[in-house]
Amino acid sequence: MARTWSVVRCPACRNCHGIRGKPRQCPHCGQNLPSTTPVVATAETSAQLRIEVALANTPEELRDELRKKLEKVDQPLIASSSSSPRAIFKSIQQIVGEDMLLHRSDVQELLDRHDSELSVDELLERMELDGTVVRQGKGCWLLLE
Ligand SMILES: [Zn+2]
Repeated sequence: MARTWSVVRCPACRNCHGIRGKPRQCPHCGQNLPSTTPVVATAETSAQLRIEVALANTPEELRDELRKKLEKVDQPLIASSSSSPRAIFKSIQQIVGEDMLLHRSDVQELLDRHDSELSVDELLERMELDGTVVRQGKGCWLLLE
């Protein structure tokens, strides 16, 4: 799986923060970060990223303890993988009304809520292929199950 998040340490203020793609600006002191800013950790999910950033900003001698604490809290989220297609599909069933119609904006909101990497089009295309939804017109799909 591609690593999507990186944790970098700002050379000016020594604080760490998460980035996607190239380093830009430090959110702590506003320094523009060079593209050579070293990556101190990587994460595959934003939940994991939160842990890595918190750890990177903690003195080394306290990290082990903090990691245990944070992973305990975040574990259920990671384990159940709230952004899995299955979890998203479950939520989709909850957002459609009696008419079983699914609107593009609802799907977008759902994906944002699940912190999903999928785009609306990717998700709907996948569901169309499975026969879960049928396109009804512009920005509107009918849920079949
Ligand atoms: Zn900084």
